[in-house]
Amino acid sequence: MSTQAPFTVEQFYKFLSQQKLMAGKCLKCGKIHLPPRPLCDNCYSRDFKWVSVSGKGRLLTYTVINIAPAQFQPLTPYAVGIVQLENGVKIPGMIQGLKQEQLKIGMELTLDFGTCNTAQQ
Ligand SMILES: [Zn+2]
Repeated sequence: MSTQAPFTVEQFYKFLSQQKLMAGKCLKCGKIHLPPRPLCDNCYSRDFKWVSVSGKGRLLTYTVINIAPAQFQPLTPYAVGIVQLENGVKIPGMIQGLKQEQLKIGMELTLDFGTCNTAQQ
């Protein structure tokens, strides 16, 4: 375990930049934290391991943005949604590559790492 990368958000984004979606799994209660945190909010354990997470999930909800912050204004209108991944983790992000009328609650989406980064800025 001594060679484990630290369970920080910085490390999480480092993995993302390597196209890896990683979460911190609590060794005590098994709760998966994404992004990872140094302390489990379920059992207060500090023992984690990195687990890779599938980028596949289902669209839980979405909203269409017409008025965006200046840097996203050229992209409008665009949809922002919450995707529930296979392990139950929910991630908010921008939905790209689909027309508004193609969006359906419950549809399968795959996380695009570039998009994920953009949405977090
Ligand atoms: Zn825990």
